[in-house]
Amino acid sequence: MRRKISGWGLYPEVEAEVFMVKKRDELMEKISSVQNIIARGLGRSYGDSSLNDHVLDFSKYDFFLGFDSEKGILKVTSGVTLDEILRFAIPRGFFLKITPGTKFVTVGGAIASNVHGKNHHREGSFSSCVKSFKIVVGDGEILECSREKNSDLFWYTFGGMGLTGVIIEAEIELKKINSVKIDYRGIKAENLDEVFKLFEENANYTYSVAWIDCLKGGKSLGRSILMLGEHADDGNLTLMDKKEIAVPFFFPSFVLNKMTVKAFNTLYYSKQIGKYSEKKMDFDKFFYPLDSILEWNKMYGRRGFFQYQFVLPEDRSFDGLKEILEEISGSGYGSFLAVLKLFGEEEAPFSFPMKGYTLALDFPLSEETLQLAEKLDKIVLKYGGRHYLSKDSRMSGDIFKEEYGESMKFFLKVKERYDPGEKFSSIQWRRLFK
Ligand SMILES: Cc1cc2nc3c(=O)[nH]c(=O)nc-3n(C[C@H](O)[C@H](O)[C@H](O)COP(=O)(O)OP(=O)(O)OC[C@H]3O[C@@H](n4cnc5c(N)ncnc54)[C@H](O)[C@@H]3O)c2cc1C
Repeated sequence: MRRKISGWGLYPEVEAEVFMVKKRDELMEKISSVQNIIARGLGRSYGDSSLNDHVLDFSKYDFFLGFDSEKGILKVTSGVTLDEILRFAIPRGFFLKITPGTKFVTVGGAIASNVHGKNHHREGSFSSCVKSFKIVVGDGEILECSREKNSDLFWYTFGGMGLTGVIIEAEIELKKINSVKIDYRGIKAENLDEVFKLFEENANYTYSVAWIDCLKGGKSLGRSILMLGEHADDGNLTLMDKKEIAVPFFFPSFVLNKMTVKAFNTLYYSKQIGKYSEKKMDFDKFFYPLDSILEWNKMYGRRGFFQYQFVLPEDRSFDGLKEILEEISGSGYGSFLAVLKLFGEEEAPFSFPMKGYTLALDFPLSEETLQLAEKLDKIVLKYGGRHYLSKDSRMSGDIFKEEYGESMKFFLKVKERYDPGEKFSSIQWRRLFK
């Protein structure tokens, strides 16, 4: 079926031939008969990584294939979502080892982006919980990949954005839990200096993330709330049914502006009374605060928005972030969402994370914010950092090549080996790699 599709940022939007994957033989037939294909999960990547002339939609290819309750290993087809896994796993006393800030992503999408959560500094990215997967490569062969088998393809598929082939199944390891609740601790930080100290002092927490008020400058530059968490241990594994609300229509573009962002930030910062806050929190509220509002991306209006996420090496993170936050607060184009996380070492060679700090920001799409992003790109590059492909819709090929340098060259060798005819490509591939 031909239809218009986009990533979560609603930009760019393209018309594509979308094939709904339901059965493996139909999928194999489709792969053998067309060129310029890309796989797509739930379209939660923000930019153009899941867009192409021919799109294989895996969102209905969601089957549970087996569960080893001794080892906590789950076998699923690639369209199973993290939400479906949680509904299955939590009542049995298991949880996802790694989860991004939305549970509405597929296992295929989580592998292709090698997603990270609030625990990268302790437990790594999604690759750390994947035992093996099956993937269809350029000549139509199905290959099984693990740390031992076809290991080059295994490693370069993490962060490979669907360009090494189409993942059809995966085995993932879950972790044991004994509660649906999180023991939460929030700490207010007056500025960037303090939030860095707090991250270091609390590095033994499994989960940590900070919300930053990126419109503040001067002495309050980087004022933030650090949010820490551990799985509680009260034996309560009962899932509560929650009602999500939906954004009913596209907001007019003037609704999100400097004034509303400033008002939101002031309210958010003062919601926590006092320096410290401790409570038991539902896991959904801690891990997936935005999932309770379905289609929240419509708040940015029809023109859409882009997410700007980068990471800087640990020893240069403070100086680089200071310069970036100064540039943003000086421009007045604040972001509703500004999330700072600490990454540890990354095992997958072509993946976004590196040891250091990562900041994610949302900007409504406009000439001015695109110009601001270009200025920020130069700062990220100057400090030896890089951008997250799953969030990107606008970076230039030159910036990307400088940032990913050697690891991109190795990636291209693996792609050449398993997909020499470039059957798998995307708009992002043509924008960045060519
Ligand atoms: C609110 C929100 C919060 C987020 N928070 C985080 C976060 O904290 N950390 C993080 O890392 N990411 C985060 N993300 C990004 C998201 O986790 C990733 O973009 C994820 O890849 C989306 O999965 P998806 O199933 O929607 O895949 P899509 O967006 O449809 O596709 C993403 C990529 O995966 C590839 N792909 C999908 N399925 C397959 C398959 N079967 N075989 C091969 N390739 C495939 C696509 O080709 C594409 O390149 C967030 C996104 C949102 C909207």
